[in-house]
Amino acid sequence: MIFDIVTIFPDLLDSPLNEGILRRARLKGQITTNIINLRDFADDPQTMTDDRPFGGGEGMVMKPEPLARAVKSQQNADGSTQAKVILLSPQGRSYNQKIAGELAGEQHLILVCGRYEGVDERFRAGYVHDELSLGDYILTGGELAAMVIVDSVTRLLPGVLGCSDSADKDTFSRNLLKHPQYTRPRVFEDQAVPEELLSGNHEQIETYRFLASVQRTLDRRPDLLKIESFSPSEIKLLRKHGLYEKVQMIQDVTPKR
Ligand code: SAM
Repeated sequence: MIFDIVTIFPDLLDSPLNEGILRRARLKGQITTNIINLRDFADDPQTMTDDRPFGGGEGMVMKPEPLARAVKSQQNADGSTQAKVILLSPQGRSYNQKIAGELAGEQHLILVCGRYEGVDERFRAGYVHDELSLGDYILTGGELAAMVIVDSVTRLLPGVLGCSDSADKDTFSRNLLKHPQYTRPRVFEDQAVPEELLSGNHEQIETYRFLASVQRTLDRRPDLLKIESFSPSEIKLLRKHGLYEKVQMIQDVTPKR
């Protein structure tokens, strides 16, 4: 999978791409990351990529021509299918694990990082296929948001995580939060690891983890349970442990007019 990141601050992205799982995925050729310096596509000696807004007002706006040239330089550069161009923007769709999963099915993403007041609207209208927001807050630029996308999509690609199924059981892979985790020592500051996890009995461990996951979701993110469905054997377990009624209460609540 190819990630091209268009930015005026290329150095900002060096470190995250050169550590841990992203570094390993790059070295193994599972992902290719190209940092595209937008200033290389400016058409004046000062390499200006922004200008004052028409109509006046605060701040600067990123000019459309360098952005368009940068994107065109990467489209089909490798002879592959057309890349999907994503603008990082607080006005975009809210990014989540489902969208990460969809993007993991693409071959080539061009991530465009805004700065200042954002990008000229005509670039957005003419070149951008999707706009993604990390949440309802304002970052100084799109670079950190682009890195979040590279990171969260890469770990979903086949073979990237050491253990093949660990992404399948993460929080949000279903509409559930993952169960709490424990490691050595068995007792830490008077808190013991739950007995079930020490039992060595696989079925007992899985049951404990499933129930703990549902309980944690009920406690912290009941909204997720509204759209989760459970298998007959899971429902049986939830009933047995008094959780099914609580889940049903959430699922039965219809919005009031
Ligand atoms: N003036 C813009 C507005 O009010 O919508 C905000 C511009 S922001 C200071 C500069 C750039 O940071 C944006 O163009 C975008 O690329 C990036 N950015 C800021 N907040 C973001 C968010 N929540 N998600 C994704 N990108 C964001």
